[in-house]
Amino acid sequence: MESEETQGSRPAGPEKGVRCELCNASLADEEELQLHMDGHAEKAAEGEPIAVPPRHACPFCPSDFETPEALKEHIGSAHGK
Ligand SMILES: [Zn+2]
Ligand SMILES: [Zn+2]
Repeated sequence: MESEETQGSRPAGPEKGVRCELCNASLADEEELQLHMDGHAEKAAEGEPIAVPPRHACPFCPSDFETPEALKEHIGSAHGK
């Protein structure tokens, strides 16, 4: 957790990339994040669970991965023959 002090005073200048605290998605900037958070709010209002970034689920076991590469590697090492 960050102290409240750091939240109030933000240094001027462009920020490179921000991250959604809810689903860990990375957004280009604060504006993008705001739009993204609006999406969360709408979904929450509709009773949907918090959105998660698209995952690459292993068809052979319950594991899932952030990238197709990671999934491929997993299948190769865990399920490969
Ligand atoms: Zn999010
Ligand atoms: Zn698997």
